[in-house]
Amino acid sequence: MPEFTDTIAAVATPSGTSAVALVRVSGSDTARIAGELLGASPPPRRVLHRDYRTCSGEVIDDVLGVFFAGPHSYTGEDSLEISSHGNPFIAQKILEDLFARGCRAAHPGEFTQRAFLNGRMDLSQAEAVMDLIHARSDRALEAANQLLRGSLGRRMNGLIEGLLQALARVEAYIDFPDGDLPPEDRAIVERDLERLTRETENLLATARYGELLRDGVKTVIIGAPNVGKSSLLNRLVGKERALVSPEPGTTRDFIEERVIVGPHCLRLIDTAGLNSSPAPLERLGMEKTLERAAEANLFLVVLSHDTREVVLPDGLSEAMIAGKSIIVLNKSDLALREPATLKFGDVPILRVSALTGAGIDQLRQAITEQIDRFAEPVDGDLVAINARHAHALASAKSALASALENLRTKGPVELLSSDLNAALSSYGDIAGRVDNERMLDALFETFCIGK
Ligand code: GDP
Repeated sequence: MPEFTDTIAAVATPSGTSAVALVRVSGSDTARIAGELLGASPPPRRVLHRDYRTCSGEVIDDVLGVFFAGPHSYTGEDSLEISSHGNPFIAQKILEDLFARGCRAAHPGEFTQRAFLNGRMDLSQAEAVMDLIHARSDRALEAANQLLRGSLGRRMNGLIEGLLQALARVEAYIDFPDGDLPPEDRAIVERDLERLTRETENLLATARYGELLRDGVKTVIIGAPNVGKSSLLNRLVGKERALVSPEPGTTRDFIEERVIVGPHCLRLIDTAGLNSSPAPLERLGMEKTLERAAEANLFLVVLSHDTREVVLPDGLSEAMIAGKSIIVLNKSDLALREPATLKFGDVPILRVSALTGAGIDQLRQAITEQIDRFAEPVDGDLVAINARHAHALASAKSALASALENLRTKGPVELLSSDLNAALSSYGDIAGRVDNERMLDALFETFCIGK
């Protein structure tokens, strides 16, 4: 295998047997290799049905091959895609043959990294590719698609343009003898920076929703022993997962299950019951429950069907669960008398029976509505930034705050300009006008091979 080839190859489909396996090739030797495999000068973007014949003349499969001439390809380079039968052994033989023809193995994310480096997409779009691969719910898919179509990149361009205008206005005065901004310019720049700060904050506010979409909504089921928490988890998951027992205090270890509720993916966590006078072992479980509760994005507070007045289980406070909880009155099938009308601030209260399934659809609906309320649409679009974007936006925001402070206290123009340049560079990081190679390598390493 040549040491310094720029032509990479990888199996791009999941390992294990599947109907079809896809092998990808990209780089400057691709046209030659495509010619060898598909026949001289294969027409671009045409699906060709061929025997796959290795260098040593062995036919290993009957494949479809498509040649893409750069720059009109995913990576922007000449590329080749070969679909074989989905046997990993065949895919591996094809890969080995491609190595013999001069390719080297692609690193994780290297195809997308090349797409980025060749200007086919900005960095936020490259991240969207990863979001798409990992999306587990309709909303996560929707957000990834918006990101892929440049929703964040476009917004960042708007912010960068606004900032450049302010910067031009400021820098015009740097070399002036008295070096000070006239009051009318000061007012214009101040207004611009206030607007940029607001827009930056609006984007930043979407970080929490972004985390919920990417990681799943941490939903903690909490309540006294024996109210039916495990039964509720089983009912929502749709299979027997948690141990259900008529003995109080049986869920000592946490059970976590991913479950799709409407357009969302929940990480549903069953906890040990919160008891007012626990036995020593139970006390340990309760402490752990409260630790998990501190990280919850959403609480399902389970109370008994015959509750006449909402009293939160021990250890929970109204402040802890405000704005992110649903009260579930379980065992409604046992109700003998007319249920009491309950109210607890703005918290939705629902009656269900984990045993019979009554009220569970309404609970799913309430969960969906509650999570949708966490979204922070930006001009009507679903924007959900990731942790890297949030870090860059927070830096930009603090540089803008420092610039505004400077303007208001009539500080030196040079400092003002340096703050604005810092904000500009943080904005630039998001779409990836970055020349920080290490950061790029670290980011693309988190991709899978073949992407
Ligand atoms: P946990 O300790 O809160 O997790 O409660 P479990 O889910 O283990 O349930 C305790 C007991 O209540 C078990 O005997 C369940 O079968 C019963 N149970 C749970 N949900 C319901 C329900 O909706 N109706 C009735 N009748 N019994 C239920």
